[in-house]
Amino acid sequence: MGGRVTMSLGAAGHANRWKGRGMRLVVDLNKCQGYAQCVPLAPDVLRLIGEEALVYDPNPDESQHQRVLRAAASCPVQAIILEVDPPADRDAR
Ligand code: SF4
Repeated sequence: MGGRVTMSLGAAGHANRWKGRGMRLVVDLNKCQGYAQCVPLAPDVLRLIGEEALVYDPNPDESQHQRVLRAAASCPVQAIILEVDPPADRDAR
């Protein structure tokens, strides 16, 4: 097994789905409008530099998963994409 699984937000929204798994975060910067709704919900992971440059931690710690899920759900243009990062992949790094 292995490989990445991209979840729809409906499935991703259940925090238990991420228990013990790594989370990979990608923001589609072509979609992102810099509204910054997501930033206060996960300020240790998502940060706005200047007016609209969003920077983010692509591998948020498990302690941040709940916040990241809320941030992703808050994005009006669904620019935040979450992927499961299976432990097997992580060990291979
Ligand atoms: S809420 Fe969405 S559009 Fe706004 S900064 Fe975050 S990712 Fe970008």
